[in-house]
Amino acid sequence: MKNKEIKILLAAPRGFCAGVERAIEIVKKSIVKYGAPVYVRHEIVHNTHVVDGLKKIGAIFVEELAEIQDKTRPVIFSAHGVPKSVPIEADGYKIEYIDATCPLVSKVHREAENLHKDGYHIVLIGHHNHPEVIGTMGQLPKGSVDLIENENDVENYTLEAGKKIAYVTQTTLSLDDTKNIIASLKKKYPKIKEPVKEDICYATTNRQLAVKNIASNCDMFFVLGSLNSSNSLRLVKVAQQSGCADSHLIHSVSKIPFDKIQNCTTIGISSGASAPEVLVNSFINKIKTKFKVKIDEVVIVKENIFFKVPAKLN
Ligand code: SF4
Repeated sequence: MKNKEIKILLAAPRGFCAGVERAIEIVKKSIVKYGAPVYVRHEIVHNTHVVDGLKKIGAIFVEELAEIQDKTRPVIFSAHGVPKSVPIEADGYKIEYIDATCPLVSKVHREAENLHKDGYHIVLIGHHNHPEVIGTMGQLPKGSVDLIENENDVENYTLEAGKKIAYVTQTTLSLDDTKNIIASLKKKYPKIKEPVKEDICYATTNRQLAVKNIASNCDMFFVLGSLNSSNSLRLVKVAQQSGCADSHLIHSVSKIPFDKIQNCTTIGISSGASAPEVLVNSFINKIKTKFKVKIDEVVIVKENIFFKVPAKLN
C-alpha cells in the first residue's frame, strides 16, 4: 500500500468555532478560579475528546443539577444553552453558575422572546431532543413555540386561527434542508415573520460551504467529530448531497476504512465545530502510515470571530 499516493483535500474553515473555544475556555478558567471540581451541566460541547480532557483537569459532567453531589461547587451551563428553568433551579439550590451558552445561541433566545412579546406564535426549525432546541423552547411559556423538523411537519402543521406566525432556527442545521423547510413555511404562511439576521451561525455556514466546495472532487469524504455532534452530522450529509456519496463521520481513528481508501485517488477531510484539530492531525498521520499523502488545503474564507469569556473569570 505504501507506494500508493492519496491526495487529501482539506476543507477550511473546519473544526473549532468561536462559541466552542469560549465554552472550553470558560471551563478551564473556572477550574483555575474556583479550584477542582467544577460541575458542567451536559457535555460542554459535543466532543468526547474535549470532554475527556476536561474531566482530567477537574470537570464533572452531569445531565441535571439534581445530580450535583456537592452543591457548594459552581456549575457551568453548556454552549448549547439551557431553558430558563435551569438558572432558576440553580438559584433554588444556591449553586453559583457560569453560563457558557454561545452568544449566537443566546441571540436566537432573545429573538424568540421578542417575537413572543410582539404576539407571534413561533415555529422553531430544529432537531427533536437536541439540547439547543430544548434550551430555545424553554425560553418561552409552554405552548408558545412548536418544533418543525422537516417539510412533512410543515404540511401537517396547523396554526391556531387569528395567530401571527414567526420562525427561528437551530444554529447548526443544514443550509440546504433549512432553505427548503423555510420555502414550504413561506408558501403556507406568506406573512410569516423571518429572523432579522439568519439564525444558522457563521461557523455552520462556512464549514458546510467549505465541504460543498470540494466534495464532488473526492472519492470518499471523512468528517471528524462525535456521534452526537449535530454540526458534524450535517457536514457528512452536505458532502453526500454535494457529490460524494461515500461520506462518513469518523469519531475514532481506530475506525479508518483503509481497505476502501486504498481504492481512492482523492479523499476529503473536514471536522465539526466541536472537534479539535488534533483529531484531524492524527487521522492524517494514520493515513500516512499506509499511503504516500499529498495534502491540499482549500480555504474558502478566513475566520476572525472571537467571543470573550464572562468578566468574572478574568
Ligand atoms: S456552532 Fe455556531 S452557534 Fe454553535 S457554538 Fe459554534 S458559533 Fe456558536
